[in-house]
Amino acid sequence: MKNKALDLSRHEAREYHTNYSGIFFKAKKVLLDKKSKFQRIEIIENQFFGKVLFLDGLVQTTEKDEFFYHEMLVHPALACHPHPARVLIIGGGDGGALREALKHPVEKVWLVEIDQEVIRACEQHFPWLEEALADSRAELAIADGFDFIQQTRDRFDVIIVDSSDPVGPSAVLHARNFYQKLKKVLKPDGIIVAQAGSQLLHLEEHGQKYRFLKKMFEHTLFYFGPVPTYPMGTWCYNFLSDVIDPREVKKLRIPEGLKYYNQEIHAAAFSRPQFFLEKLK
Ligand code: SAM
Repeated sequence: MKNKALDLSRHEAREYHTNYSGIFFKAKKVLLDKKSKFQRIEIIENQFFGKVLFLDGLVQTTEKDEFFYHEMLVHPALACHPHPARVLIIGGGDGGALREALKHPVEKVWLVEIDQEVIRACEQHFPWLEEALADSRAELAIADGFDFIQQTRDRFDVIIVDSSDPVGPSAVLHARNFYQKLKKVLKPDGIIVAQAGSQLLHLEEHGQKYRFLKKMFEHTLFYFGPVPTYPMGTWCYNFLSDVIDPREVKKLRIPEGLKYYNQEIHAAAFSRPQFFLEKLK
């Protein structure tokens, strides 16, 4: 059975991270509670975090802390790439990654989201999505990301995988053959970034993924950032490229007005803690 976050008898929504721990939000209002063809979509209003979106019971985004995640997912790659003209985002139906990508001198950004209902819900509740989609450089495709990259004839400078966790419709977006196909639609000097899960909770998976990714890309790196409402607080991202090493780029092109990402954060984000390094051996 698909997970549900809302418990109306307690007026709250909760996500279990382990059998013994998790996070809860008091629901001042329930704004949406529906099942799409792909997943359960719930949105509540919380007095501290503002609107909170859950898919299959897992927090995807909150108005208060989404900037940590979306800035760290998008800017390290786009700030490093010398000419990020064509950008592909897979997943990302809440629109935060699209909004951030459009802050760069891009020519076109494709947003490939599998679930039309997520787009509908987020257009209604998160105003940045509607604004970003109104940008003439943005193009929305309602499609499975895996099918899209098998069919597209386009080639991309930067690909951003803004998937949910590796369960349900997102499971295909974490597998080895997905990355093999992604590489075929990436320009030779391009960059792929992917949200890679919780630093601590998904530690075993990081080791497994690293072992197949490092055979495919010259630079296979993890970087990290905080996301207060995601499991265990510290989030991982993969940076993959055959040409660009983000630790060596001297001049980052950073848009004005960001809240979290800057030159200092970029330099620090690629440092790996000892317990993590042990897993990559
Ligand atoms: N980073 C957020 C997190 O982990 O909490 C997730 C952001 S975003 C809301 C994830 C999106 O990926 C969802 O809207 C989901 O519908 C979409 N998605 C899942 N599987 C997909 C697939 N195979 N192709 C395209 N989009 C997919």
